[in-house]
Amino acid sequence: MEHQYKALDKVYKHPRLGDVVLRQRWTTSRISLSVKPNGEVRLSYPRIVSTARALRFLEEKAEWVLQMRKKVAERAMQGADYTPAQIEALRREAKRVLPAMVERLAQQHGFKYGRVTIRATRSKWGCCTSQNNLSLSLFLMTLPTHLQEFVVLHELCHTVHHNHSAEFHALLDKVTGGREAELNRQLKGIRKNIRFRKGSIADMERIMELVADAQNWFREQEIDQWQDGYPTRDIILSDIVDGENYIVEYNDIIASTFVVSFSGEPTYNEIKGKGWLNENSYAVVHRIAVGGECRRKGIANEILHYVEELCAERGICDIRIDTHRDNRAMRSLLKKLGYIHCGRITLTSGAFREAYHKELNK
Ligand SMILES: [Zn+2]
Repeated sequence: MEHQYKALDKVYKHPRLGDVVLRQRWTTSRISLSVKPNGEVRLSYPRIVSTARALRFLEEKAEWVLQMRKKVAERAMQGADYTPAQIEALRREAKRVLPAMVERLAQQHGFKYGRVTIRATRSKWGCCTSQNNLSLSLFLMTLPTHLQEFVVLHELCHTVHHNHSAEFHALLDKVTGGREAELNRQLKGIRKNIRFRKGSIADMERIMELVADAQNWFREQEIDQWQDGYPTRDIILSDIVDGENYIVEYNDIIASTFVVSFSGEPTYNEIKGKGWLNENSYAVVHRIAVGGECRRKGIANEILHYVEELCAERGICDIRIDTHRDNRAMRSLLKKLGYIHCGRITLTSGAFREAYHKELNK
């Protein structure tokens, strides 16, 4: 099997983990470990790091590898690899549930449609032909009911507008009670396999890697943010202990970390410029760090939406956040999401940050 691997790769037989592919590269800058969907374990490390040191790293992470393998196996079960028998079971369930759902929702909102067919489509949840026949994927049965209904309503709206025009979206928004954007986001989250949870001490090493990735990225972008070693391990540790650190898992890897606090932010007490929009209690979002391989996938956008959900749970209607003047990606995202630029705040280090505020009930 060795010929499958590149010339520099070796296979190491680990007593508990079995075969581990060792890849020593000029191009990597740190030791990293990954578990492939087929369960293969890869240990990558720079040429300047000795194999012995890399193996010590592997040893420290052995438990993590075992856990990841279990997760990967579970995901294969419920993900892409359904058995023919499982697909037939989903098909039976879909035929029982979906045509009735289409009929009910069509009546409720006054849509007219032709036939409903159920297919084993993986690329789309549904589609609507020019004759207004609906085709629905049997994999809809793996979604919660409210998202099944959302897909059905999407297709029913196509019986009126056979496109994704502004009129189409306005209609879909109306029949979903103004929740189109939110439901779309939930549906995309499922397809993208994004999950949020609180960070724990066990996540510490990965969080520090994400922080290092973010520091490198800021440096490459010539943004003078986090270049003084901030945030330190101690800061992250107290975030975790305070229950304010969050983790984003994207396709089962820890892709990002951030902090949400509801206990105020002392450096926000003074602001230069227009000033905050109001003095209500607010959530503050801090220390968003996205892993290098997970950038440009809209994760910061997902995070800010998630924070809105956290606020909704607590009856908080305001979010405040600050960012570096030169962090154009973040500033344009904040603007897009309806944050208002309120002026500048001064960090304890003396540096300035651009301050933003969003009122959720506006
Ligand atoms: Zn559509």
